[in-house]
Amino acid sequence: MQALDEPRMSDTFAGDAAIVTGASKGIGSGIATKLAEQGASVVVNYRSSEKRAESVVDEIVDRGGEAVAVQADVSDEDDVAAMVEATVDYFGSLDVMVNNAGMTTLGPAEEIDIEDWRRVVDVDLTGVFIGSRAAGRQMLSQDDSGAIVNVASMMGEMGFHMRAPYCAAKAGVINLTRTLAVEWAEDGVSVNALAPGFIQTDITDQTQDSAGYTDIDIHRRTPMARYGTVEEMANCVSFLARDDNYVTGEVLRADGGWVSDAWRYRENRA
Ligand code: NAP
Repeated sequence: MQALDEPRMSDTFAGDAAIVTGASKGIGSGIATKLAEQGASVVVNYRSSEKRAESVVDEIVDRGGEAVAVQADVSDEDDVAAMVEATVDYFGSLDVMVNNAGMTTLGPAEEIDIEDWRRVVDVDLTGVFIGSRAAGRQMLSQDDSGAIVNVASMMGEMGFHMRAPYCAAKAGVINLTRTLAVEWAEDGVSVNALAPGFIQTDITDQTQDSAGYTDIDIHRRTPMARYGTVEEMANCVSFLARDDNYVTGEVLRADGGWVSDAWRYRENRA
C-alpha cells in the first residue's frame, strides 16, 4: 500500500478539512481514506463503532495522513453542530462534508412498525439535512467555497419491495440535494449526491438473507454483472467533492447500469 507521504496521485484536497459521516466501516471508511490520500484532513464520524473508527484513523495516520474520530449521531442536531465545531477547532475550516451515514430496515409496508419508519427517515433523510445545514452554515461563513456530497441510493430513484422507508428517505435526499444546490450555488457551495447500486458492505450482507436474494441474483440483474466496490464509490465522491468541475445539484448514479436496464434476468450468468 502506498504511504500517504509518498508522492500522491493528486493533492486535490491539500489543506482542506473534510467530515465523512458513518466512516467507521463500509463506503464511508473508503471515502475517508480516499480523501486523506488526496491530502484532506479528515474527521472519521461514527455513532457506536468507536474501535472501528479508531482503526480507520490509525490506518490514515500510519500512512502519513491526518485524521481524527468524532462520535455523533447524525440525526441529533446538537451532536452534529458540535462535530462541525470540533472540525474547525482541529483543522481550521470545513471544506468537504460527506453525508454518508445510513441504515435500513426491511419489511412489507403494511407491517412496518412506525418507529422503524421514523428511525430510518430520521437517520437517512433528516440526518442529511442536519449535516448539510450545519456544514452549509460553516462553509457560507468562510472565504473559500465548500462541497457537500450526500450518499443517496439508486433506490431513491425507483421502487424496491420491502424498503418503503429507505426508498422514501433516499428519494428525499436526491431532491433535497438539488434544492440546497440552487440555494447555495452563488455562494460557492456545491451540493451533489451519489446514488450507489449494490455495493458489498455490512448493510448488504445483513439484509441479503431476509430480502430473499443471493449474490448470483445481483450479478444476473446488474449489467456490469457484479457488485460495485467501496473504492469505486470513494472515487465518485472524490470527483463530486472537487471544486473544479462546475457540477452542482447533480446525482451521480454508480450502479453498474442497474437503473438504465428495465429488464434483465439471465439464468446462466454467475
Ligand atoms: P454500513 O457498512 O452499514 O455502514 C454504515 C455506517 O453508518 C457506519 O459507519 C455506522 O456507524 C454509520 N451510522 C449509522 N447510523 C448512524 C447515525 N445515526 N449516526 C452516525 N453514523 C451512523 O453501510 P454502507 O453500506 O457503507 O452504507 C453507507 C451509505 O451508502 C448509506 O447511506 C447507505 O444507505 C448508502 N448505500 C449503500 C449501498 C450498499 O449497497 N452498501 C447502496 C446504496 C446506498 P456505527 O457502526 O458507529 O453505527
